[in-house]
Amino acid sequence: MLEILRRIVQEVNGARSLDAALSIIVRRIRKAMQTDVCSVYLRDDERDCFILMDTIGLNASAIGQVTLKPGEGLVGLVGQREEPLNIEEALSHSHFRYFAETGEERYSSFLGVPIIHQRRVLGVLVVQQREKRQFGEGEEAFLITMAAQLAGVLVHALSTGALARLSDPGTQALLNGIAAAPGMAIGEAFVVVPSANLEAVPERVPDDIEAEVLRLREAIDCVRHDIRQAAERLASRISEQEQALFDVYQQMLGDAALGNEVEKRIREGQWAPYALSRVVQRHVNYLERVDDNYLRERAADIRDLGRRVLAHLQKDSEARKPVYPDRTILVGDEISAAQLGEIPRDKLVGLVALRGSSTSHVAILARAMDIPAVMGMSDLPISRLAGTPMIVDGHRGRLILRPQQDLLVRYENMIEEEQALTSMLESEQSLPSETSDGYRIRLMINTGLAVEMSGSPAARIDGVGLYRTEVPFMMHQRFPSEKEQTRIYREQLQGFAPLPVVMRTLDIGGDKSLPYFPIEEDNPFLGWRGIRVTLDHPEVLMVQLRAMLRAAEGLDNLRILLPMVTSIEEVDTASRLLDRAIGELRDDGVRVERPLLGVMLEVPAVIYQLEALSTRVDFFSVGSNDLIQYLLAVDRNNARVMSLYDACQPAVLRALDHIARESRRLNVSASVCGELAGDPVGALLLTGMGYRVLSMNAPNLSRVRAAIRRVSLEGVQNLVSDVLALHSLTETRELVYQRMKEWELVHLLPPRD
Ligand code: PEP
Ligand code: MG
Repeated sequence: MLEILRRIVQEVNGARSLDAALSIIVRRIRKAMQTDVCSVYLRDDERDCFILMDTIGLNASAIGQVTLKPGEGLVGLVGQREEPLNIEEALSHSHFRYFAETGEERYSSFLGVPIIHQRRVLGVLVVQQREKRQFGEGEEAFLITMAAQLAGVLVHALSTGALARLSDPGTQALLNGIAAAPGMAIGEAFVVVPSANLEAVPERVPDDIEAEVLRLREAIDCVRHDIRQAAERLASRISEQEQALFDVYQQMLGDAALGNEVEKRIREGQWAPYALSRVVQRHVNYLERVDDNYLRERAADIRDLGRRVLAHLQKDSEARKPVYPDRTILVGDEISAAQLGEIPRDKLVGLVALRGSSTSHVAILARAMDIPAVMGMSDLPISRLAGTPMIVDGHRGRLILRPQQDLLVRYENMIEEEQALTSMLESEQSLPSETSDGYRIRLMINTGLAVEMSGSPAARIDGVGLYRTEVPFMMHQRFPSEKEQTRIYREQLQGFAPLPVVMRTLDIGGDKSLPYFPIEEDNPFLGWRGIRVTLDHPEVLMVQLRAMLRAAEGLDNLRILLPMVTSIEEVDTASRLLDRAIGELRDDGVRVERPLLGVMLEVPAVIYQLEALSTRVDFFSVGSNDLIQYLLAVDRNNARVMSLYDACQPAVLRALDHIARESRRLNVSASVCGELAGDPVGALLLTGMGYRVLSMNAPNLSRVRAAIRRVSLEGVQNLVSDVLALHSLTETRELVYQRMKEWELVHLLPPRD
C-alpha cells in the first residue's frame, strides 16, 4: 500500500497542470482501490461551493457542471463536517442529492474524505461502488492517507493551474505566504535555483535553438568523458559485471536514449536545462513504477546522470553574468545571505522564498535591508516564474503574479502613502526617544546582517545593541583570520565610537551555516548552535575574542555577548577564555580593558538561572526570536507552524515580564535585541515591563520612536498589567489593538485588509 501511495503522490507531483494532476488522481485511485468510480471535487472559495473537477466512472459531461454548497449532498456534507463519510446505501441517506448529469443512481456505496491543507478544506475525494457494501476500514484509511498526502501536492497544482491560466494576459494570480519583511514592491521575478537540482529548473525559451542543442551535446560529451575516466580509474578494482554498468550509463546518455529526446524538446522551444529535467523526470517516473528491481534501480542512475549533465549546463550559464531586471524581485527555494548580497542594492526591491518564515535569518536580513519579503510559499511553482511581473506585499504575506491594471494602481497608491508616512516619521528622528512624560528609552540598532546601512544613524541612536558576527564569516571561503576579523570589527567599533557596540560571538547552527563548515543535523535549532559550537572549538572562539579586543584598542566601546547560553558552566568557560585572550594580548603589548560581558537570554533554561548569571556577567540581552521559538516549541523557520509563533502568547509575555523584574531586582541591565523590540507594539509592551534599552533593525527606528513619543510610561505600564491578567492570545491581541486605536497609533502597525 505504502508503495502505491508513494507512486501516486510522485506522479501527481510531476503533473504539468492541475487538470493533469486531477486526472492522475482519479484514475490511479480507482485502479488501486478497484472501485467503479473515483471523483474529485474542489472548493471554489468565491462561489462557496464544491465543483466536480474530474471523475472516472461518472459521466464526463458532469465535470465542471455539478456544484454543491457546503452541507449540500453527500459531498457537501463531507466538506462541511471535515470528516470522512462511509455509507453502504447512499441513495437512502438524508443528504443524498441526485444530479441527472452524473448518472449517479447506479452507485450504492459511497466513501468521501475531505482534502485538507493547513486547516483549509481544498476539496473532497470520493469513491463509489455499484454493489451495496460498506468500504472496509483499510480502504477508508487508504483514502484518508491519500487525501492528506495529496493536499500539499494539490495546493501546488492549484497554484500551477492559476499560473497556467496566466497565458491569458489579462489574468492575475494571488498567492498567500508568510509576511516576512514589511513593505510592498512592484517588480519582476529573478529566479535563483540551486545548482544541479533537476526539480528546480526554471522554464525558459532559448534565444538560439541551434546553440542550445550544441550546448546540450557538449554537456553530454563532458559527462560521457567523466564516466569513461571513472571506469578506467576503477578498472582494476571492480568486477566485470560492475564494469558493464558504466557501459549502460554510456548507452543511457547516447542519442537513442536521453540525447534525442531532449534535443526534440529543445527544438520545440524549451531551453536545454528544462528539456533535460523533463525528460529525466519522465524516465524516472516510468522506471519507478515498473515491478522489476533492476529497472527500478536504474531510475536512480538516470537521475544521477541527469544531474551531471545539468551541472555542466549550469556551469556554462553560471559563467555568464546574470542580468538583473531594474526592479528585481528575488525568487528562490531558500535564499541565502550571500545570494542577497550578490544583487546590486539599487536593483533589488523584493524577495520571495519557498522556505523559511518571518523569523528566519534571511527574513531578518531582508528587514534590515528594508526589502519587503514573503516567505513560506512552499507551493509556488518557481520554475515558471522567471521574468513574471509581480507585486510582493510583505505586510499581508501576499504575492500577486501578473497584476491587472486596477490592482497595480492600488498598490502604487499604497506604496506612495507608505513612503509619505516614512518621510513624515523621519522628520522626528532627531527628537529624543522618550515617553510623553519624559522617560528615556535607549534605542540601539542591530548590525552585521545588513551589508550596508542607509544614511548615518549614529546621530540618533544610542549604539549597536547587537552586532551579528555571522555574516562576515559567511562572506568568506574559510574562517576569517584574526587579522581579517580585527579589520572588520575595528571598522564597526570605530564607525560608532564613542557609542557602545555589543558584539556577539559567532552564532552559527540553526539556519545559519557556513559553506566551509556545514552542520547537518535532524534538529538544527536544538543542536550544535551558538556557544555550543564555539566552546567545542576554542581555537575559533579565541581568534574571534582576540580580534574583537584588539579592534577595540583605544576605543573602549566594545561589549561582548554570548549567544545560546544554557548553563553557568558555559559562561564560566567563555569568561575564562576571555581572560586568557586579554592576558595574551597584554603580553603582546596591546592595551586592553576587560569589556563588559553579557549573555543572551534566549534558551528558556536561563530564565531560572538569572541570579547565578548576574554574579558572572555585566548585562543581559533578551533574544526574543529564539526565546519565543523555544518557549513555544515552534521552529522559527517552519512556515507550517508560524501562526503559533506569537509574542503576544500569555506565556511569552509573562516570561519577558519576569526577566524584566528579576533583572531590576538583581541590578543587571537587561535589553531586548530580538525582532520584538523593533515592532511598535512589542516596543511599547517592553517599555511597560521596564526594559529601557531596545535594539532593532535600523529601518524600524522611526516607527518605534514615534510610538514611544506618543505614550506615557504610566499608560504602557497599565497596558502591561492589563494584558498580563488575560489568558488567551486572542484577547491579548484584541486588547492591544484597541489600546493602539485609543492612542491613535494604528497607522504605525502593518496594514490589514
Ligand atoms: C534572537 O534570537 O532574538 C536574536 C537576536 O538572535 P538571532 O535572531 O540572530 O538568533
Ligand atoms: Mg538568537
